[in-house]
Amino acid sequence: MRIAVVSDIHSNLAALETVLGAIGSVDAIWHLGDVVGYGPQPQAVVESLLAAGAVGVRGNHDDAAGGSSAIEVFNPDGYRAMQWTRARIDETTRLYLAGLPERRVPEGSGFTLAHGSPADPIWEYMDSTFVAEANLSAFETPYCLVGHTHVPRAFRELRGRLRSSYVADGARLELDGRRLILNPGSVGQPRDGDPRSGYLLIDTDAAWVTWHRVGYDIASTQAAMVAEGLPATLVRRLSHGM
Ligand code: ZN
Repeated sequence: MRIAVVSDIHSNLAALETVLGAIGSVDAIWHLGDVVGYGPQPQAVVESLLAAGAVGVRGNHDDAAGGSSAIEVFNPDGYRAMQWTRARIDETTRLYLAGLPERRVPEGSGFTLAHGSPADPIWEYMDSTFVAEANLSAFETPYCLVGHTHVPRAFRELRGRLRSSYVADGARLELDGRRLILNPGSVGQPRDGDPRSGYLLIDTDAAWVTWHRVGYDIASTQAAMVAEGLPATLVRRLSHGM
């Protein structure tokens, strides 16, 4: 089976469609949440993801857009963008976002999916080996997939400890039964200094995963954000991937 993993699309339709095109034909698409928030096309992004047959989990922005959590927790730019997002999605999309599970374990796959972490799926940032090790007891499968930090990264078990590595385009890791926590990076708002969209491909027959980056039409997303009056800081950061 070939499975594509996408995360943190953040209402960026140009990025999502470019990634879906680059992925090509796969047996499944998994998303790790934050489908909406920040970007200019929340409704179209959800529709495109559903049309592609993706299944996934709920992120903090999806939770807020769905109405489950208060939006005061966001910084001022995120708050403004979330108010705008809430006003732009229809009831079907709102219910879809609110109804996404916090965790998902696709049957027989060996993977647990969560947005932040398996222990605290909506909010925790898997941003250190310390947090990663504390999460090993929070999932039962050998492998776990998380998003939320927007930074492609791997935590891999080695002699009873987890080792962390940041991963660039083309990086490959074996699935050999040792425990892994993997972050595909972000489709719609990368934050590792590379503005290209990130995603992950899993090949269960070859037993490896590969990280990928693909450039999309950043200017078209930025123009749509400006037209909608979304915060300038959110527009600018797409150029820098930070
Ligand atoms: Zn996010």
